[in-house]
Amino acid sequence: MGLEEIRFNAAVVRAFVMFSRVAGWLVLALGLLTLLAWLTGVDVLRLLAGATAGMRFGAACAAVLAAGALLLAPRARSLSLALSVLLLAYAGFESIHYLGGGHEPFVRWLERWLAVEAQGTPLHMTEVATVGFALIGVLGVCVASRRALWLGEACALVVIAIGTASAASYGMVLAGGSADLLNRLPLATALALLLLALAWMSSVPTRGLTRIAVADSLGGAFARRLILPSLLLPVLLTFVFELMQSRWQIAESLTLPLATMATGGAVATMIVWVAFLMDRSERQRRTVLALREDAHTDALTGVVNRRGFDQRLAALLHEHEGLATLGVLMLDLDRFKSFNDSFGHQAGDEVLRETGRLLRAEVRPRDVVARYGGEEFVVVLPDSDRERAARVGERILAAFRRHAWPLRPVTVSIGATIALAGEDPAAVLRRADEALYCSKQQGRDRLSFDGGPCQGLLASGPVMLP
Ligand code: GH3
Ligand code: MG
Ligand code: MG
Repeated sequence: MGLEEIRFNAAVVRAFVMFSRVAGWLVLALGLLTLLAWLTGVDVLRLLAGATAGMRFGAACAAVLAAGALLLAPRARSLSLALSVLLLAYAGFESIHYLGGGHEPFVRWLERWLAVEAQGTPLHMTEVATVGFALIGVLGVCVASRRALWLGEACALVVIAIGTASAASYGMVLAGGSADLLNRLPLATALALLLLALAWMSSVPTRGLTRIAVADSLGGAFARRLILPSLLLPVLLTFVFELMQSRWQIAESLTLPLATMATGGAVATMIVWVAFLMDRSERQRRTVLALREDAHTDALTGVVNRRGFDQRLAALLHEHEGLATLGVLMLDLDRFKSFNDSFGHQAGDEVLRETGRLLRAEVRPRDVVARYGGEEFVVVLPDSDRERAARVGERILAAFRRHAWPLRPVTVSIGATIALAGEDPAAVLRRADEALYCSKQQGRDRLSFDGGPCQGLLASGPVMLP
């Protein structure tokens, strides 16, 4: 049987799509705010979060392009695709500034025309930002074109790594340390990149990596609870340990082992938590299986009960559709009423138990032995033709004759049939039952196939037996 498809939690899927939209608008606002600062000379971001936080002019343009591509993706796919391609080209163009040292005539002309350096907002995005936005461009192209999602996701993961490193670096600055990485990737740009990467991935929540985070399962719950903390933990730890060093003058020789210990401890805690949850889920699964097994087992004989049999027969008929290799034997103990009358119900029950054991011993593990009701049993034989069904039936008859019954010999009558293509369970059982009546009619303790010598007799209905 194939594995079931991932089932999605509709509310979480909606929340992811909503997050994607909100993040898109946020990035657009960040970009526009920076462009406004360039126009007016008042940089709100820098005023609020410090010099290393602000976005550069080039990054702001890229952020507007990227947010536009993201927000347009659901409604205008080709326009979104075009914007992502433009973003990729723009990030490439910006990287020329670093590769070529910024001496190209066009770039110099642009710098003069924009004359932004003078207003305090640097013109070009940093080299790390060019890489980040180029990767976001590729991600946008992959998602919008619905091709090579894996490549887009690989780009997103790199951007997330860069973004969290920059956030950690901001933590160091807050704690009084130096800001090497922030100079290469200002916080606002890092935040925009991070939001863009997460937003693109969340915009198609039921595909790619994010589908595990929206799954309606234990795995989905893990992903939703653990991904964010595991991304934020290093940022928090960096902040705390930098604070210990620069504010409280605790030596690096001490903070470093502490950092290692805290990281290890955090990972171990998460593993223990996951292990506990997995263990509980496994125990629940086993309990459910045991309950289902119980619900499908006959208490007296230990074989499959009527409810389990109905399910299995339907499933096997479906599996064997068009094959005509599903054998069905219907069994009924001979003169069992008189056995009960002579020796009592308790002794009769013991015979039924022994019947269950005998039948199981005579068939393969994947054959189904079931108590159909009262003193009637059914044996279903997958992948068996008429010959094999007859062989198994004869073996059962012989086993009953051979068995050392304590009170008096017990025999059984058997009706056999092979399921036909496309038949429903009731029709198969009716034929097996007719064959069983034939065995009874012919003197009991024997096997008959459907369509045997009693066919004419049975056409008018079941024969009343003496
Ligand atoms: P035949 O050979 O024609 O099948 O005769 P029979 O007496 O077996 O036929 P009938 O179906 O009339 O009798 C079935 C008997 O099985 C009736 C009932 O007392 C007995 N029986 C049904 N369920 C149980 C059970 O759970 N325990 C016991 N001890 N007896 C049962
Ligand atoms: Mg009966
Ligand atoms: Mg009987």
